Amino acid sequence: LPPVPGGKPGPDPAEPAAATRAGALEAEAVSAWFGDRKVLDRVSLAMPAREVTALIGPSGCGKSTFLRILNRMHELIGSAALSGRVLLDGSDIYDRGRRITHARREIGMVFQKPNPFPAMSLHENVLAGLKLGGVRAGREEKDALVEECLTRAGLWNEVKDRLRQPGGALSGGQQQRLCIARALAVRPRVLLMDEPCSALDPTSTRRVEETIAELKSEVTIVIVTHNMQQAARVSDSCAFFLAEQGTPGAIVEHGPTETMFGAPTDPRTADYVNGRF
Ligand code: ADP
Ligand code: MG
Repeated sequence: LPPVPGGKPGPDPAEPAAATRAGALEAEAVSAWFGDRKVLDRVSLAMPAREVTALIGPSGCGKSTFLRILNRMHELIGSAALSGRVLLDGSDIYDRGRRITHARREIGMVFQKPNPFPAMSLHENVLAGLKLGGVRAGREEKDALVEECLTRAGLWNEVKDRLRQPGGALSGGQQQRLCIARALAVRPRVLLMDEPCSALDPTSTRRVEETIAELKSEVTIVIVTHNMQQAARVSDSCAFFLAEQGTPGAIVEHGPTETMFGAPTDPRTADYVNGRF
């Protein structure tokens, strides 16, 4: 777009279009087993590009397992057997011949407990992400990318004068935003977040929520949260997971966040979003 006369300049068409990197993720009939125990039953869910999808539901209903399956992380932690498909922009991340490292680069993850490399400096933490993402650049260009990632994660202004301090020296909320910066440095098309604010105080939580709102134009976000206010604030759509009486986890209802909170179809959804269990 050309600059608006007398107004703010429009987006520069020459900018690298981060927005076009956001990918659409789709789970098709994903079931999972730990040993003989089935923990997910035919979960199908579209997670559209440039939207925030919230996964909600009580503990133990398979949200974290599902999230890990979305970027093949579960292959690291052991033994879930799997059926179904996970498509990133239409191509199955589990296809034979597709490398697991490729899925993990395209689909980043942020965990409940912030896990920066504690002894590495802030700068080195983000550099580690750039390296994992295969970014080859000179030193100055890398410094600029580090700044960009920290800015996108909402942390730059707070840390620009202490980039050489260890990651472990930051507050919990800052560590979590450092982890977001490191994840962004890999240049993911989707960012998975498993209860990213559960270990944070309310102020840090709001900072992370602001960051999510800013990021969603450029990276698709899937967030697990137990905080219904947070789900209502940050998400475009919600999927409600439930594992009733020994049955495997499944999606009871899924839809636009407004509908899920304002006029859910299933009485169990209404009970859950209103804090009745
Ligand atoms: P949520 O994130 O919704 O709390 P999880 O995905 O962590 O649920 O767990 C779903 C079910 O799978 C639970 O019953 C849990 O005990 C089981 N589970 C999770 N991880 C493992 C594992 N590594 N080995 C065996 N069972 C597991
Ligand atoms: Mg979990």
